[in-house]
Amino acid sequence: MSVSPFLFETKELTKAFGGLIAVNQVSIGFKEREAHAIIGPNGAGKSTFVNLLTGHLPASGGHVMFRGADITRLPAHKVARLGIGRSYQKTNVFPTFTCFENCRLAAQSRLSTSMRFLRPAAAYRDISAMASEALERAGLAAKAGRVAGTMSYGEQRQLEIAMVLATAPQVLVLDEPLAGMGKEESEGMVRLLQDLARAYTLILIEHDMDAVFAIARVLSVMVNGTLLESGPLEQIRASKAVQDAYLGD
Ligand code: ADP
Ligand code: MG
Repeated sequence: MSVSPFLFETKELTKAFGGLIAVNQVSIGFKEREAHAIIGPNGAGKSTFVNLLTGHLPASGGHVMFRGADITRLPAHKVARLGIGRSYQKTNVFPTFTCFENCRLAAQSRLSTSMRFLRPAAAYRDISAMASEALERAGLAAKAGRVAGTMSYGEQRQLEIAMVLATAPQVLVLDEPLAGMGKEESEGMVRLLQDLARAYTLILIEHDMDAVFAIARVLSVMVNGTLLESGPLEQIRASKAVQDAYLGD
């Protein structure tokens, strides 16, 4: 029996919505600490693919493997407890809560089962520490007390990353973290993602190709629900098939 070189892997993963096959037998491997971007035109199936990865949608066929275990049928909250954290294409913060409170809620969602056996004071301390560390890591330590809804759009997206970090993940799955950001906000987010790529396994859906090239070392290209090509950045940039189908020129 061979040991998989991958931390996280899909095997012929498929999702049909009625007659539409949104994800068609996609097999991608993600290595530990790899910064891996999934690119492709709108409607290619990228968000559906990560929803299958994280248990937010049930697969129609194929498999999702994590550390050698088949997690295809696990619901999202159990996938999250394995250390797979994700953000969404749309913002997900509670606008009337502070940054710190938002992160505490995120941390609590990960720990709620194990915390049952701790004294409440100890649980509060741990959850608060996780929230503070996450804010620090995401560059928001100085804004811990700010009410989320009063912050700029870019800061709210940064807070979403902090909320994912507060769940103590090993893998970060981020769906278009730069969407809707201005130039300066994007640059800040790219720096944050470059920093996170050094510590986490990063699975990133992103349209901004400059950002993708600055962050990712491995690229997978999806078109019409199928995987066109997957490989190191240089290989994908040079690929004739990818240029014809997606990158233009
Ligand atoms: P991408 O993220 O690459 O833009 P999506 O995964 O969002 O693409 O969508 C892939 C295809 O699946 C699109 O044609 C989209 O309309 C369709 N789709 C996505 N989610 C659903 C759903 N819940 N029900 C029906 N069709 C869907
Ligand atoms: Mg999408």
